[in-house]
Amino acid sequence: MTHLDGNSLAGPLAEYFAFDVTMAVARCDGCGTSAELARAMVYPSGAGTVVRCGTCDRVLMTVVESEDRAWIRFTGVGAIEVRRDPLVDERPA
Ligand SMILES: [Zn+2]
Repeated sequence: MTHLDGNSLAGPLAEYFAFDVTMAVARCDGCGTSAELARAMVYPSGAGTVVRCGTCDRVLMTVVESEDRAWIRFTGVGAIEVRRDPLVDERPA
């Protein structure tokens, strides 16, 4: 089976990750609730930030930051729903 390397993701992922992520809808692996990340419970600490489901308290994601990078782990998120701009597909290539 023919495949492409990861560079082929640059275009599509640039579209999906150029948004206010707090408005993305995340589905909790624990209880199945789908809600905007803005509705999650966030627990910042010196070691990093833990984001928990507002319904069942399961860890959805963790964020650990240093001066020059960040590590973001979507531990308990089954999927993230990103609304697409309907005009994107209508623009000339
Ligand atoms: Zn949950």
